[in-house]
Amino acid sequence: MFVCRKTCRGELTVRAIIVGGGIAGSASAMALQAVGVESTVLEARPEGVGAGSWFTVAPNGVAALQEIGALEAVRAIGVPTRSNIMVGATGAAIGSVGLGRPLSDGTPALSFRRPELAAALNAEAVRRGIDVRYASQVSAVRTTSTSASVVLAGGEELEADFVLGADGIHSLVRRCIDPHAPSARYLGLANFGGITRNTRHSATLQPEAWTFVFGRRAFFGALPTPEGDVVWFVNEPRPPISRSERAATTDADWVSHLQGLAASDAGPFADLIGASELQLAGDSTFDLPRVPMWSRGRLALIGDSIHAPSPSSGQGASMALEDAVVMAACIDESRGALSAAFAAFESRRRRRVEKIVAQGARSSSTKTPGPVARRVQDHILRLVFRHIVTEKSQAWVFDYRPRLHTAHRTP
Ligand SMILES: Cc1cc2nc3c(=O)[nH]c(=O)nc-3n(C[C@H](O)[C@H](O)[C@H](O)COP(=O)(O)OP(=O)(O)OC[C@H]3O[C@@H](n4cnc5c(N)ncnc54)[C@H](O)[C@@H]3O)c2cc1C
Repeated sequence: MFVCRKTCRGELTVRAIIVGGGIAGSASAMALQAVGVESTVLEARPEGVGAGSWFTVAPNGVAALQEIGALEAVRAIGVPTRSNIMVGATGAAIGSVGLGRPLSDGTPALSFRRPELAAALNAEAVRRGIDVRYASQVSAVRTTSTSASVVLAGGEELEADFVLGADGIHSLVRRCIDPHAPSARYLGLANFGGITRNTRHSATLQPEAWTFVFGRRAFFGALPTPEGDVVWFVNEPRPPISRSERAATTDADWVSHLQGLAASDAGPFADLIGASELQLAGDSTFDLPRVPMWSRGRLALIGDSIHAPSPSSGQGASMALEDAVVMAACIDESRGALSAAFAAFESRRRRRVEKIVAQGARSSSTKTPGPVARRVQDHILRLVFRHIVTEKSQAWVFDYRPRLHTAHRTP
């Protein structure tokens, strides 16, 4: 049962500590607030500091934002995105896939720069009176039969009724729940991203769509923005980037390397990369296919900490947002029984998220073909995008609409 505390007005409150102020962290704080749980969000990074390039929040994730009343707070920084267009290294068309049914008000998938979305969600949480603390690295987590607590790197200890680990793919809370929990799995790709401002290429790319090129040496993606910029990413098949390689490589070195990767392919990438600001350099991509224990006692996990997909899935942020809504609904419906709430969350979520992670890993492997596969790749991919990976076959991913089940108020 929850350990309820009396506020100065004599009301009973349930308190949570959320470790991690990425996408899942502040979204779950807002969802929990809507069902009467007060949270403190602890984020290791200082305010205003964040890495990451662009990702897409699909209609299922946008619906979760709407469900917690946070869509309007982030809409202006999102780029409407309706489809993915696939092209081969020679420029030949491979196919296209729609990004799902828009919300009932017409809002389609939205693409965001990762740190901007995290900062906007944290700012919205603060506006609603939620305690969001930056530069607050959690170094230990404890659970007893009556409470849960975290210890910050500076030694301060904070206590609550339960702790949610929204601390991403390399989660500390996951290891506290289960010291034998699996670690993230390297997917054989390094991820780079950037933005090219005010470029003529923005007019040549289809608006509101990612153009993906299955290139000879790497996989490329580009999305034009309404402002006339183009955001892009590159996935390069390679071993993980070591600390020493990272330290020895400047942004200019990376840019010239990426231009080299794009040089023999059709399309604007070599040009775009040459004139760009690098926003993400040499991020090793991982996934987390199956975490056996999602909770223990008063500790539970959400987001990438339990089901990080390959970035190729396009679902990492969307699943984290779905989790936020479903966890709050389960806590609300369990009426104080934490173990029942966490069990209900796992039973509603496990099958869906593991299926999406598995699908993401398959899609990631098409970016790392061997020499023989590469020769027949365009032909095979044309068949795949005509018959197997279609908007219809993906409807179970995009059409999901998480619900809080309770009337919620936005203060
Ligand atoms: C640096 C970075 C860049 C990324 N770039 C991309 C990208 O370009 N494209 C893409 O598709 N996906 C990217 N992702 C993944 C994507 O953001 C996630 O799939 C998705 O947002 C899941 O959200 P989450 O909140 O579960 O995890 P995350 O967004 O990873 O958030 C976890 C947060 O917890 C914080 N944290 C971790 N440990 C502690 C601790 N001990 N104490 C306090 N805070 C802690 C981290 O600083 C982080 O802010 C990136 C993730 C990270 C961390």
